[in-house]
Amino acid sequence: MSTFLFDSIIFGPVQSRRLGVSLGVNLPPADSKICSFNCIYCECGWTASMNVSRFPKREQVRQALEQKLQAMRQANEPLDVITFAGNGEPTIHPDFANIIDDTLELRTAHFPNARVAVLSNATMIFRPEVREALKRVDQNILKLDSAVESTMRQLDQPLMRHTVEELIDNLCLFDGQLIVQTIFLRGNVNGQTIDNTTHQEVQAWIDALKRIQPQQVMVYTIARDTPVEELRKITIDELETIANKARALGFDVQVSG
Ligand code: SF4
Repeated sequence: MSTFLFDSIIFGPVQSRRLGVSLGVNLPPADSKICSFNCIYCECGWTASMNVSRFPKREQVRQALEQKLQAMRQANEPLDVITFAGNGEPTIHPDFANIIDDTLELRTAHFPNARVAVLSNATMIFRPEVREALKRVDQNILKLDSAVESTMRQLDQPLMRHTVEELIDNLCLFDGQLIVQTIFLRGNVNGQTIDNTTHQEVQAWIDALKRIQPQQVMVYTIARDTPVEELRKITIDELETIANKARALGFDVQVSG
């Protein structure tokens, strides 16, 4: 497979399918993926480690972001959102909460109408300081790939203690101030079938949404090469069918194919 790694702290802006004109903030280093999950579908390839010692310091992130925002403002470039994403999981950065505060301050100074979004796998939301930081951003986008324990383990391969039950309990602590993001796919991994689109899977996922009560739900499927080759994207019609089941209960669901 071809893997895709971001080669700097700040990348873009790019036109995002889900978010608009997005300036990316990549906290893991440029040459390897550092994450608390090892998702079988990750566009960055397999996880190199969970070692955060090579993450850039808070001041480096602040400087790089400020320089880019100043340059964009001087060039009259548009900006819809500053998005924490990239080569791994941003919330495992030891200074994540302070980096979020710096980002909110710089956003207000340079692009007051832009949003700040964080794409996170939700493994660190058991920490109160991470939860509080995520509550301060405009789009707190948290991963829930399956509400069935064995499927979550197949899909996400957590490298730390992480159970579906604890995850859902912690997602409920946001009091609805979150966006749930779920990838739907099917295929084979290690000789076993994987399919989180079955009736049982979708029902468990909807039951979890009923408990979490997110402000929005984002569903999507594979878009690029994946580390496990025997994975298949599902069709936009299948995504819409799943989305409609959640919409029927009043959830705002965004679909990207
Ligand atoms: S959580 Fe995101 S970065 Fe980490 S392995 Fe999964 S898809 Fe990749």
